Amino acid sequence: MAESLDEAYKKLMEKIKDFIIFQSAESVIHWDMETMMPPKAIQLRSQQLALLSRIEHKMGTDPEIGKLLKQIKQNPRYDKLNNVQKRNVYLTKKRYDEETKLPEELVVEIAKQQAIAVDVWKKAKASQNFAMFKQELEKMVELKKKAAEILMEVKRTTTPYDALIDIFEPKMTAKTITQVFDELRTGLVRLLKKCESSKKHPNTSVLKRKISVDTQRRIAKALAESVGYDTASKNAGGRIDETEHPFTTGYYDDVRITTHYYEDMFASSVFSVLHEAGHAIYEQDLKQDWMYQPVGSGCSSGFHESQSRFIENIIGRSREFWVYFLPKLKEITGKTFADVNLDNLVHAINQVKPSKIRVEADEITYCLHIVIRFNIERDLFADKIKVKELPEIWNQNYKEYIDIKIENDSEGVMQDTHWASGLFGYFPSYALGNVYSGQLLATMEKDLPNWRKQLEKGKFSPVKDWLIENVHSHGDLYDPPQLIKKITGKELNVKPYLNYLNEKYSELYDF
Ligand code: ZN
Repeated sequence: MAESLDEAYKKLMEKIKDFIIFQSAESVIHWDMETMMPPKAIQLRSQQLALLSRIEHKMGTDPEIGKLLKQIKQNPRYDKLNNVQKRNVYLTKKRYDEETKLPEELVVEIAKQQAIAVDVWKKAKASQNFAMFKQELEKMVELKKKAAEILMEVKRTTTPYDALIDIFEPKMTAKTITQVFDELRTGLVRLLKKCESSKKHPNTSVLKRKISVDTQRRIAKALAESVGYDTASKNAGGRIDETEHPFTTGYYDDVRITTHYYEDMFASSVFSVLHEAGHAIYEQDLKQDWMYQPVGSGCSSGFHESQSRFIENIIGRSREFWVYFLPKLKEITGKTFADVNLDNLVHAINQVKPSKIRVEADEITYCLHIVIRFNIERDLFADKIKVKELPEIWNQNYKEYIDIKIENDSEGVMQDTHWASGLFGYFPSYALGNVYSGQLLATMEKDLPNWRKQLEKGKFSPVKDWLIENVHSHGDLYDPPQLIKKITGKELNVKPYLNYLNEKYSELYDF
């Protein structure tokens, strides 16, 4: 006897709930590995993780899910489902189809190649030898092309590379990104030249003042509190731990961030804490009713990055934030910053200085690093360029866009682990996040004309409430192109972000 629509939907959501709870448990074990695990545990931990990932795969590809999806989709009353239910069915089907259509041998081969390529990448990077890495990267690109061709059908994209982009930024295409990034690049290069030819440059020595790790931990807690990321109350849903590479992990009521503390570079933890707190509050402020449902999740990698960069840069590197936070910083650090002047500090934390390494880049050059990687990936997957040509193309692009000479491939094409890990299609979301953040800011300014004045007084809640209402509460109900339009009334558009940068940096650099 055929099950009723409601029954089938209920059963499907129960399965998904188990799957989501299982994934959240896995993420705590991953977090523990990065933060707390004693070194001797590594062998046991890798067995635990391998077993968990086998179980996860089994749960995610359970034929019962396929059966229920079919019953729901074919039910004549399907249209009676509301929008949230339909979205839950759509997201479940999309994930299920992707997981079941990729042949298991290919998935296993990619996982093995990831391990090999990352290992060889580390060695090749240490010895500045791209030739050593080339073959493994070629193999990885071939495997990802194979996977992308299969995913093209599931995701209904017109090119393999679009299928890879869709994993991180659903329904976004290389064609759209190319148009937006070309405009972004032109605007950023122009701004970079203006900053560089300015006579006004910051004194950044204040950023090198020594701050003990203990004191920096207190600064981190105060920063988290100031943007509404609770790590201290009895009912806190967050905590801050330490890892070399900062990250955020968790779900709704348990979202944790990490940072690193360098005694002579306190700003590094300041901005990583703000960045990760931006990711964390997004996850925590998703609609409570949607917990354990596919729709109860962030919209995309790019939207996640829009939230972290919003908090890190638009808020955290603004003058208004430091009007409020500098006295606090002085209080926490005793005499260290007693003589520091607000304008100098604000200019120092916004210094524009081209660098070879993406993760160290300032707001103006950051997206240029991403545009370079995106153009290379797109051409690589369209067979316009070959892996062996990567170092030369990389170095040319750095010279042309950022005016920097790359001395060796370790500080060039081999600086990021993404390609060794097979993460193609991921880079664009870093820059898309900035573009979205500019559009969000322009819209927010219309709704909250006084937000800067309030921020000066330490009142962040109007901004946070705006983000909750306009971004977080939509969860994964829409794909990114729809969501940005829903919030701002406009398609993806780079102008607001360039306007924001122009306004800010023309003041800082006097142009
Ligand atoms: Zn991030």
